[in-house]
Amino acid sequence: MSDTPKKVIFLDRDGTLNIDKHFVHRIEQVELVDGVSDALRIFEGAGYLLAIVTNQSGVARGRFTEADVQTVNNYVRTILAERGVHIRAMAYCPYHIEGTVPKYAMDHECRKPNSGMAKQIEAVLGPIDYAKSWSIGDKITDHEFGVKLGMRTVLLRSENWTNAPIDPVPTVVANTLVEAAQKIKTL
Ligand SMILES: [Mg+2]
Repeated sequence: MSDTPKKVIFLDRDGTLNIDKHFVHRIEQVELVDGVSDALRIFEGAGYLLAIVTNQSGVARGRFTEADVQTVNNYVRTILAERGVHIRAMAYCPYHIEGTVPKYAMDHECRKPNSGMAKQIEAVLGPIDYAKSWSIGDKITDHEFGVKLGMRTVLLRSENWTNAPIDPVPTVVANTLVEAAQKIKTL
């Protein structure tokens, strides 16, 4: 692998790739958002490596286990691969300060908006050119994660945020990943 810094798209999982059914933890609950694989193929065609970074506080809350997270993540990766999309690296954060499972009940550097998961992805992919990379998600914390790392950001419209002013503003606001891909192509 060359050491030329990579341009990466950091993808949130629930509400971005698959429909957010709240605490998705079984593969039966995974339903890709329409057009996601088309959008991801556009990103790959433009030379971006794809990575998933997902907060999974359900582990800290005792609703499911890390093994469940890994099973769902691997399933998402597999069904995308069947559609010709390559997820190059994945990271998840099981911690939450309000958790009920002592092992996970803490603030943690990996929980977005903190930047720890980007370092985990970098450990897999090698050096990343953050200025040429993107963070895409449906929560303000996904946007803040990208801003902290000097990335451009796409914020997908969702029930998870209102139209209150966001500072700094996201590079792109879109309804879906497909719309985001079309906008990024023109930037
Ligand atoms: Mg989300």
